[in-house]
Amino acid sequence: MVFQNDVQKYIFFGVWPLSKLEQDNFPYFCTIVTERDMEKQILLGKTPAEIQEVVEKLELPKFTGKQIVDWIYQKRCASIEDMTNLSKASRALLSEYYETGLKAPVKEQVSTDGTKKYLFPAGNHFIEAAYIPDRERATLCVSTQVGCQMDCLFCATGKQGFQKNLSVAEIMNQILSLPEFDTLTNIVFMGMGEPLANYDNLMRCLDILTQEWALGWSPTRITVSTCGLIPNLKRFLEESKCNLAISMHSPFHDERLKLMPVEKSYPIKEVIHAVKQHDWHGQRRLSFEYIIFKDLNHSKDHIKEIARLLGSTRCRFNLIRYHAVPGIPLKSPDAATMTWFRDALNEKGIIATIRASRGQDIDAACGLLSTKNLLS
Ligand code: SF4
Repeated sequence: MVFQNDVQKYIFFGVWPLSKLEQDNFPYFCTIVTERDMEKQILLGKTPAEIQEVVEKLELPKFTGKQIVDWIYQKRCASIEDMTNLSKASRALLSEYYETGLKAPVKEQVSTDGTKKYLFPAGNHFIEAAYIPDRERATLCVSTQVGCQMDCLFCATGKQGFQKNLSVAEIMNQILSLPEFDTLTNIVFMGMGEPLANYDNLMRCLDILTQEWALGWSPTRITVSTCGLIPNLKRFLEESKCNLAISMHSPFHDERLKLMPVEKSYPIKEVIHAVKQHDWHGQRRLSFEYIIFKDLNHSKDHIKEIARLLGSTRCRFNLIRYHAVPGIPLKSPDAATMTWFRDALNEKGIIATIRASRGQDIDAACGLLSTKNLLS
């Protein structure tokens, strides 16, 4: 079949039955269809300047921009309809093209120790965030990707493969839509995914968390974890003041390579060399995450090599007891091994603490977040 014009093609493929009036005004009609049928854009994640652009585009009163910023970031308002100091007409026009992007969790699991795991929607996927209350502190562990490309041997998220980077709104939503938001004292980017592999979106989130126009948090309350993607690690040290946590798990190249394929491109000794170039004498903290596996990475040689690599670098070690993941040939160490390793590091002058295992019964503990069996 030969089509004489775009209108005929459009009708033939059954996209839309066009009236005579619409056919006569085809270019204009296309514009309307494109704008109206497009997915609504998300306000969460936009800066005040970007929200002001939206206001100008829709020809809303100028002061509306500041009000919207307030509703999104201060009041954490999920529905444009509830932005009551905007006129009805402004709300109607705004919600025709935009949505807030704030979405409540669809599932909650509570551990016997008080840890909570939340399942949040993220496009066609779901992601998990873990809320960990601990006396006067309450920490939220946030995800930055659906799945992960890094394929660490011991990690449930890695086993899930990589699906996508989370958008700024999808990351921020885990924080702003958390039912316990008002109790939060700390945020750690240690959930599903490698944060520095989603660098631009991560940095925008750190901005929103720390800038006065949004949450105004001190960067010292925020920690970003990485397996050691050196180029983005260097950028992060330059461009942010947030704390850094590096997943080490072994100081030896061959052994770490078996646990973490990223060691091939970014060996731990080069990662440590990169962080040593930074001055750690201020408030910003450097820590190393070290999961201990039974009969693998907790000998005197490991202690010696860790001390040699770090030299006098100001840092802390968080020791984590490995939690068995079905189908993975690694085992949990006993409590005595954990204590011995911590004390041996302390004797070498390296501050080390054993991180209490939280939320293990609901798979919210370190390395156990995964949405493979979601909603089960
Ligand atoms: S441990 Fe972190 S970097 Fe490694 S696969 Fe899991 S989520 Fe990715």
